[in-house]
Amino acid sequence: MKKWRCTVCGYIHEGDEPPEKCPVCGADKSKFEELTAESATGTDATTGDTDGTSGTQADDPRQVDLGPAPKTGVGRIYQFAMGQMLKHHAHPVSTHVPNGVLPVSFLFILIAAVTGVISVGTAAFCNMVFVVLALPFVLFSGYIEWQKRYQGLWSGLFVVKIIAALVVTLTSVLLVIWWIVNPDVLNASSANRIGFIALGFIMLIAAGIAGFIGGKLVFRD
Ligand code: FE
Repeated sequence: MKKWRCTVCGYIHEGDEPPEKCPVCGADKSKFEELTAESATGTDATTGDTDGTSGTQADDPRQVDLGPAPKTGVGRIYQFAMGQMLKHHAHPVSTHVPNGVLPVSFLFILIAAVTGVISVGTAAFCNMVFVVLALPFVLFSGYIEWQKRYQGLWSGLFVVKIIAALVVTLTSVLLVIWWIVNPDVLNASSANRIGFIALGFIMLIAAGIAGFIGGKLVFRD
């Protein structure tokens, strides 16, 4: 039986033909290449069964192409930094900062709203500031990862992930600004309390979606 590798995400499919669509990243069949005995060297034979067809998962054998060496010193430094970010997985590593802090911040928002304890609300605000400060690097490293490792593929999966990341960014910035403008927003007397909590909930769901898709791409399941 032939083996086919998705050149975008590395998913391995077994069959006479490549699948119409990659079950992991959504790339179409033109993105699959046949896996020969030579190119399969180094893969692991963990068998998966995703959409009713037989498939396997393998260690990622792809080389990330950073393009020709730039002529300027600044360009070479930028390319080197990009290579290091990809090699050491800067995006999945850095994204755990906001993704770890963000749910705690939302939990503190809820506790502050229910109990009225001001210090818990302040803790939620400080956490949210930390999320906002971490996001520029997370977004930048995610963009590099998408462009270089995943070929800038415009499949539904990546579109949803990008939208989720933008929603997280927008909602977290809005929450911080809202809090600065109205520090009493979580008080029982505040008419905007429910709206503030709802915005936090949207942020939480969007972060969950972005993280879920990231896990799907990394583990190819
Ligand atoms: Fe794929």
